[in-house]
Amino acid sequence: MKKGIETEFKKLLLERYGIGEEIYSLALEAEREAAGSLERIDRIKEFNTLKVLSAFRKEEISDRHFAGTTGYGYDDIGRDAIDKVFANAFGAEDAIVRPQIASGTHTLAITLFGLLRPGDELLAVTGKPYDTLEEVIGIRPGVGSLAEYGVKYSQVDLLPGGVPDLKAIHNAVNENTKVAQIQRSRGYAERKAYTVDEISGIVKAVKSKNPNTIVFVDNCYGEFTGIEEPTQVGADIMAGSLIKNPGGGLAKSGGYIAGRKQYVEMCSYRVTCPGAGREIGASVGTNRDILQGFYLAPQIVAESLKGAVFTASLFEKLGFETSPLKDEQRGDIVQTIKFGTQEGLTTFCGAVQAAAPIDSFVVPEAWDMPGYDVPVIMAAGAFVQGSSIELSADGPMKPPYIAFMQGGLSYANVKLASMLAAERLLKLKNNK
Ligand SMILES: *Cc1c(COP(=O)(O)O)cnc(C)c1O
Repeated sequence: MKKGIETEFKKLLLERYGIGEEIYSLALEAEREAAGSLERIDRIKEFNTLKVLSAFRKEEISDRHFAGTTGYGYDDIGRDAIDKVFANAFGAEDAIVRPQIASGTHTLAITLFGLLRPGDELLAVTGKPYDTLEEVIGIRPGVGSLAEYGVKYSQVDLLPGGVPDLKAIHNAVNENTKVAQIQRSRGYAERKAYTVDEISGIVKAVKSKNPNTIVFVDNCYGEFTGIEEPTQVGADIMAGSLIKNPGGGLAKSGGYIAGRKQYVEMCSYRVTCPGAGREIGASVGTNRDILQGFYLAPQIVAESLKGAVFTASLFEKLGFETSPLKDEQRGDIVQTIKFGTQEGLTTFCGAVQAAAPIDSFVVPEAWDMPGYDVPVIMAAGAFVQGSSIELSADGPMKPPYIAFMQGGLSYANVKLASMLAAERLLKLKNNK
């Protein structure tokens, strides 16, 4: 029986995707060699599933929470229960979760505007923040930026190798440092994501200098990759996107902010407006998706982590530099592969697109995107537009031609995409 399915599978791989014996056997080896990491991810999944389930149980989630509201959204019991479930699962005092939050950048901007006042100082402690935040902060001119409101900005750069400079962070914090911002995931930088243990060290470096400084974590891509969240190790507040990890692939839009009660409240007046705060904001039919997505999130994050580990393992075997390595501890769902050539990066992204459920027939091309200095190639075939808990791969068209791959609702799908990329790269090499 086992032999039967294997033969049929190989036949189908070759017929439908052109993947031959050589890559198939390499993939089997790659998976075997990654077995330890894959197993560890399953343990984390079980742990986080328990965390989420017990939060559902504590809040007595039931069918009545799915109904939702329209208009102003007063007394939306589903929406209010979702806030509590997120807070509970993240070990935070409070949370605000809303489908109206338009993107990850929006939820981070809400948090910064919620916490900072004119004259305050924002200190980025893990180097320059994510590209799209530059206009929010005013590092690049942006209409309505924090800089326009008189919020000062400074940053502590990372040490070589992308390591947070704890001594410099301690020195940079002063009595006017209102918010210290940590970015957990790597963004488009050549560094690893920080684990929650590492974040704990950064929190200590800040708080030992000024205990009143609010430590804020950009938690995008980090949720459920380990057994704790930043709010469980002393971070005061964190935020993330629902079309990434905590939406579980089912949330159609939205963001969350979780942390200390007084800070979440301050942010709530920016989610809507001063006065109304969290009392309004209709859920218009989104409560079920958000709850079911959060329920599935530990499992979906595990699928994408396993896909990343498999990809690292396969491409290490093929001689490419990957980060993280297959058995390194992970703080986010991002996997990078360094191709060194334009052709390599383009081929990889093309294969990810071809293996997607949606738009598998299109070929991605690099284009000039607003906010980037070089053309960027992006592969995405998602059910939810721009969702990156679904499998996607992208990279700026400049040396060393690194692909940033993330997401995957299904491990089997990520595996297929990686095998297809490997096959196409092999053909490219053999044709030279
Ligand atoms: C995705 C991401 C953002 C921005 O999210 P958008 O939805 O693209 O606006 C910010 N920070 C990090 C670390 C991210 O991964």
